[in-house]
Amino acid sequence: MEINEMYIPESAMAIMAHPDDIEFACAGTLARWAKLNTRICYLVCTSGDAGIARSGMTRQEASQIRENEQRTAANIVGTKDVVFLREPDGMLQPTMEVRKKIVREIRRFRPEVIFCGDPNLVWAGETYINHPDHRAAATAAVDAIFPAAGQPNMFEELSQENLSAFKPRKVFTSGLLDDNQTVLSIDDTINIKIKALLAHESQFKGKDPSDYVFERAKAVAEGHNMKYGESFKITTLENDEMWEKYHGDAIDRHPGA
Ligand SMILES: [Zn+2]
Repeated sequence: MEINEMYIPESAMAIMAHPDDIEFACAGTLARWAKLNTRICYLVCTSGDAGIARSGMTRQEASQIRENEQRTAANIVGTKDVVFLREPDGMLQPTMEVRKKIVREIRRFRPEVIFCGDPNLVWAGETYINHPDHRAAATAAVDAIFPAAGQPNMFEELSQENLSAFKPRKVFTSGLLDDNQTVLSIDDTINIKIKALLAHESQFKGKDPSDYVFERAKAVAEGHNMKYGESFKITTLENDEMWEKYHGDAIDRHPGA
């Protein structure tokens, strides 16, 4: 199936390193799907506890502020399901333990689509090196998605929590724009994306990200039949036939799919 605006999954989970990463990467698409009743889950590996540079601010206080901001932002996008792994911000590592924690959430939520970052992205433009936490979260997510989440004999102890193996249908990876990316229109939801970003008040005090987001979304949309876009590299792990065979119920309950 070619992925375009017609594709509306039953459920989607976004896995990223910090509060606000999901908004930047894919909140326009998530908000569009949420309006059409897609179940959405946010999985945030750290609580951004190193991300408030103010003297006297402890990591604990910062993580509380940032978790609240993330919950507000997710609510604006269209979900209350927000999970924090509470790994240390700035020191995230793609360990086996983190992989297992992500597998646990995938097996719990059972998302049709998973959004994550690109583990290979180091050099991102002339003035930015991709944050090591972003790379670590991307590696941990990709390794949890395949094969671990769908392999019954990996982390089999999770069955004691009634969590059985689950293979997602598609992975949407966000990274640098290149020819292999699918561009999805966020014309109807770019304002929600910006409103959700602005909920991260501690990050955007005195520096409104709106212009940057509009410009970036416009650049992504160039050459496509839309004003604003988000772009993803899409990997299909379960073909349409297999997905319908195992998840036909979910598709029937969700006629947009
Ligand atoms: Zn980040």
